[in-house]
Amino acid sequence: NGSARQESSPLFTVQSPNVVYTPDEIKSQYAYQTTEVTRTADNKLVATPKATNYHFKVDRKVGKVGMMLVGWGGNNGSTVTAGIMANRRGLSWETRDGQQTANYYGSIVMSSTIKLGTDAQTGEDINIPFRDLLPMVHPNDMAIGGWDISALNLAASMDRAQVLEPSLKSQVRKEMAEMTPLPSIYYPDFIAANQEDRADNVIEGDKACWAHVEHIQKDIRDFKAQNGLDKVIVMWTANTERYADIIPGVNDTADNLINSIKAGHAEVSPSTIFAIASILENTPFINGSPQNTFVPGALQFAEQRGAFIGGDDFKSGQTKMKSALVDFLINAGIKLTSIASYNHLGNNDGKNLSSQKQFRSKEISKSNVVDDMVAANHLLYEKDEHPDHTVVIKYMPAVGDNKRALDEYYAEIFMGGHQTISLFNICEDSLLASPLIIDLVVLAEMMTRVTWKADSEGTDYKGFHSVLSVLSYMLKAPLTPPGTPVVNALGKQRSALINIFRACVGLQPESEMTLEHKLL
Ligand code: NAD
Repeated sequence: NGSARQESSPLFTVQSPNVVYTPDEIKSQYAYQTTEVTRTADNKLVATPKATNYHFKVDRKVGKVGMMLVGWGGNNGSTVTAGIMANRRGLSWETRDGQQTANYYGSIVMSSTIKLGTDAQTGEDINIPFRDLLPMVHPNDMAIGGWDISALNLAASMDRAQVLEPSLKSQVRKEMAEMTPLPSIYYPDFIAANQEDRADNVIEGDKACWAHVEHIQKDIRDFKAQNGLDKVIVMWTANTERYADIIPGVNDTADNLINSIKAGHAEVSPSTIFAIASILENTPFINGSPQNTFVPGALQFAEQRGAFIGGDDFKSGQTKMKSALVDFLINAGIKLTSIASYNHLGNNDGKNLSSQKQFRSKEISKSNVVDDMVAANHLLYEKDEHPDHTVVIKYMPAVGDNKRALDEYYAEIFMGGHQTISLFNICEDSLLASPLIIDLVVLAEMMTRVTWKADSEGTDYKGFHSVLSVLSYMLKAPLTPPGTPVVNALGKQRSALINIFRACVGLQPESEMTLEHKLL
C-alpha cells in the first residue's frame, strides 16, 4: 500500500539545516533564486540575481481520498475506473500479444522518475519515482464515484466505450456493474443535440437554479460520508460544452454569477454549477474539457473562498506532442511557419464535437498552445507574428476511441530552406486521458497539503493561489491566476511541477549542469 508506506517511512529524507521532519509535517526553508532585469537610461539591460526566502510546510497525513467524475459513464470515466480496479487487484489478462499486467503508464506521478541527486560513492544519478518526492495518495487507494446523465452502470459503460480488452473486462465486470453514476444536471443547450438519447439519468430542471448547486453539494457530502473520506476531488470529464457568453451583470463577477444561478439564467452551464458546488464544499474542482466553465465570476468565487480550481482540457495526445515539438523547434532556432492539425475520432466525444458550437470550444483550446513559445523568440518572430495554425476535427465513427491525429509542421531553416515534419499519431484516446485524470487528482490533492509563507511576513502559513497552474502539464489550455502568464511548453511545465515539489523538501531545482562530471 503506497500511501501507507509514504506516511510511515518515506523513500528518502533530506539532511539539511533548512528541513525539519515531524511525524505530521515536513517544514522547509527555501531561497528562491530569480533574476531581476532593469533597463538603464540608454536602454541597456541589467540583470540582478535575487533571492527570496520562503518557508514551505507539507502535511504528511494523506488521509483517505476520493475522486468524483462528472461524466463517469463516458469513455474516460469508465476506462480510468476499470484501470484503477485492475491495478488495485494486480490483474493480468490475455491479449493477442500475450499476457498483459495492469500498469500506470502515462501517469507522470506513477510511471516517471526524477533525479534526486548523485550517488556519493559512484557519482551515478539516483533516480526515484516521482510519487516518492512527497507523500501522495496512491491511486489504488482512491474511492471512485461520480455523475452521468446516462444511467448505464460502469460495466455497461465500459462495453459502450469499446476501449478495453474483453479478457480484462470480464475480470472487473462484477465490481463495475455495482457502480452506477448519480443523476446529473442536463441543460440540453450546452452539449450537442446528438447526445439527447443518452440523457436518461437527469435531475429535474433544464437550466441553472440554486437547487442544482445544493443537490451537487449534497452528493459530494454523501459520497464523503459513505466512503469515510477526508477529501474529495471533483473532475469534469463529461461532454465538451459550448462556450458560455460572458455577459456583464450575469457571470462577470462572483456575486452576479450567484444571483444569475438563483434567477435561473440560461447562460450558466452545468459545468459551472458543478464548479460552484465544489467551491462551496471546499473541494478542488478540475475541468478536463475545453469550455469556459471558469467564467470570470466562477474564478472570482473560487478566489474569494480560497478553493482550488484547475483547467482546462486534458493535454493527452496531439497537443502534448505539439507543446514538446514546438518548444524544441523554436528553441533550436528554427522558424516554424505553419501547423496543420487534423483529428479523426469515432468515439462519443467525436460525435459531440461534430456539432459546431462544441467544436468551437475545442478549437479555441487547441489553438493558443504555441503562443508563449513564439512570443519568447523575437529573433524569429516579429511582435504579433504567428505561425499559421489550423485545427480540424472530423467524426469518423469507424475508428472508435482509436483516434487519429495528423499533423504537418512546416518550418524555415538556414538560408531559406524548408523542413516539413509529418506526424501520424494513433492511439486510444481514453488510455491517454485516464492517467492524466489520475495525475490531476493526485497532484491537486497534494496541493491541498502544501502551505507557504514568506520570510518577511507574519507567522501564518497559507495555501497556494486558488488557480492551480502547477497542474498545467496535464492541461491543454492551462488556467493561471488572473494576470499571470500561461506556460504551454511541456518541458517547462514539468520542471515547474518538480521543482516546486523539490522546494517543499528544501532541495534546489535540478539544474542539469552536472559540473561534477565536467570539471575533472
Ligand atoms: P464521452 O462522451 O465518452 O463521455 C462523456 C460523458 O459525459 C458521457 O457519458 C455523457 O453521458 C456524460 N455527460 C454529458 N453531460 C453531462 C452532464 N451534464 N453531467 C454528467 N455527465 C454528463 O467522452 P470522453 O471521451 O470520456 O471525453 C470526456 C471529455 O474529456 C470530453 O469533453 C473530451 O473533449 C475531454 N477530453 C478528452 C481527451 C481524451 O480522451 N484524450 C482529451 C482532452 C479532453
